[in-house]
Amino acid sequence: MVPLSLKNRFKNYDLLAYEAVFRQLLEDYWKSDSIISAYKKEKAGYDGEKNVDYKLSTYPQKDLIVFQGIRLPNPPFYFQIDTLILTRNLIYILEVKNYQGKFQYDSKLQQLTQEVDGKATAYKDPILQAEAQKTHLQQWLEKHGIYNVPIETLVVIAFPSTIIENIHQDPEVYKKIIHSESLHQHLNRLSETHTKNILTAATIRKLTKALLHEDQPLHTNILDFHNLSDQHLIKGVPCEKCNHSSMLRLYKKWLCPKCKATAVKAHERKILDYFLLHGDTISNKQCRELLQVGPRTAYTILNSMNLSHKGSNSARKYYSPSLNEFPQNSYLPTKMQRHIKLSNSRIKWHHT
Ligand SMILES: [Zn+2]
Repeated sequence: MVPLSLKNRFKNYDLLAYEAVFRQLLEDYWKSDSIISAYKKEKAGYDGEKNVDYKLSTYPQKDLIVFQGIRLPNPPFYFQIDTLILTRNLIYILEVKNYQGKFQYDSKLQQLTQEVDGKATAYKDPILQAEAQKTHLQQWLEKHGIYNVPIETLVVIAFPSTIIENIHQDPEVYKKIIHSESLHQHLNRLSETHTKNILTAATIRKLTKALLHEDQPLHTNILDFHNLSDQHLIKGVPCEKCNHSSMLRLYKKWLCPKCKATAVKAHERKILDYFLLHGDTISNKQCRELLQVGPRTAYTILNSMNLSHKGSNSARKYYSPSLNEFPQNSYLPTKMQRHIKLSNSRIKWHHT
């Protein structure tokens, strides 16, 4: 008797790509605060959304269909909904916020501010942000011939320690900005105000299909964004034990010349990281350059990974797996993990 999740949350491309950067970046360039700050923002966003996913998964109501993280086109825009919940009576949009610390919300100025060390920073009004998603979704639904479905929005604060002060004690704000702990009560409250069945089972099926079909995850070019190019990246396959680069290719395995560790599949992560950082396809030539191996080895390796491909001989292109097929464990060199932890770069929230 729990909600049915039709689209489970995976790490988004940007978060996976930052982890790939940390694995592939030469140590000389580790100092960049902007990369670590951007990574921490992505990671906090993901952790916050997972918190809310968990709370929602324990909601004792079965007639809900949940889409965790969906990005849809409404030309010329795309709009991203952190969590979309479909029911017979209404649609919920959850705008998940991973704010940490103490904030003031001014419902008259429609502004959220935070004061740290005597310095105030203003952020986008999260209620207006959620309302904007609602407008986009309404237009998207109309394009699919679906009219007059009630849509309710909730701004869900992911972490219990966050304080949002509603400075005018506006009763509407208490209903719109909530902590994830009270998510169940607010879903109950909203469902009680929408008791009429609006969507038929057939429409729900059609809608579900369209949502999954039109979902287009954002794929930022992280290297361009941070002015990085191949010269900043490790050539060849780094050793997972000591991070030495690169390992030597022996018959069917890799050997680290420094710590003598061997690995059979050390190339797989390297190729997956290539997709995250360089695009959706790889050729034999690109693979040779990437792994520092000959054409026959590149051919054997690419074919062993069960990637879909098009074309033959030197024109053959191998395609990236889909987002949910990437490993979700964020293996990072120990030294890098320490570096990220010690970095005091603050998270910059402005773009969320
Ligand atoms: Zn090694």
